[in-house]
Amino acid sequence: MAQLDITGVAKTFGAVDVLRDINLNIRSGEFVVFVGPSGCGKSTLLRIISGLEEVTAGELRLDGERLNDVDPARRGTAMVFQSYALYPHMTAAENMGFSLKMAGARKSEIREKVGKAAAILQLERHMDRRPGQLSGGQKQRVAIGRAIVREPKVFLFDEPLSNLDAELRVQMRAELIDLHRRLKTTMIYVTHDQVEAMTLADRMVVLNGGVIQQCGRPLDLYDDPDNRFVAGFIGSPK
Ligand code: ADP
Ligand code: MG
Repeated sequence: MAQLDITGVAKTFGAVDVLRDINLNIRSGEFVVFVGPSGCGKSTLLRIISGLEEVTAGELRLDGERLNDVDPARRGTAMVFQSYALYPHMTAAENMGFSLKMAGARKSEIREKVGKAAAILQLERHMDRRPGQLSGGQKQRVAIGRAIVREPKVFLFDEPLSNLDAELRVQMRAELIDLHRRLKTTMIYVTHDQVEAMTLADRMVVLNGGVIQQCGRPLDLYDDPDNRFVAGFIGSPK
């Protein structure tokens, strides 16, 4: 048993097979990146893990517990979206604490957890600002902070850096690697950018056409791609 076991997962929308027979075991603390071209099913797979989408077939288990029928809020996962999805009328601090407040946490506990996340993300000076007063990078840090305060077993990131300019994207990659070192939490990260994937991943899962093409360490995939799609996609000379 791995921490997250995905077994025989399939998803159809109408007559379209978006995911077919996905099998994947993710160890606790791993940084796994799903990579593949637009439309290959990356977001759908992430949404299935988070519970925002139901499977057509197959099973998910987290620490052995069957997840399929568990409410998204109780799964132990927390998602960070490309579009940040912050509440515009709330301050950074309120955005970060909102899920804890909804869960009935005490004010002192919320303050402590939000403060800790703000320190990790170097957001202390911006906590009273609303999203409209924050830069793209700061907004994405708030969105990450909102996930951190929930202390999830698994972080789910859906192209979180895609809306940022190139320079900031590179800086944020380094921050995410640092965050993973500090928290040691399992992270599943979706991107269509193979360089981003190679930089971040302990293990890369290359998807195409709703099927896992290959799964492995970035350099192993680069050195020894299983097929021409993988070779072409990650720019391997083979
Ligand atoms: P990716 O994130 O890799 O770009 P997605 O998982 O978003 O891909 O989408 C995979 C395929 O599933 C696409 O063809 C998309 O149009 C389709 N799809 C995604 N969500 C839905 C939906 N709710 N209804 C119908 N088709 C969908
Ligand atoms: Mg997507």
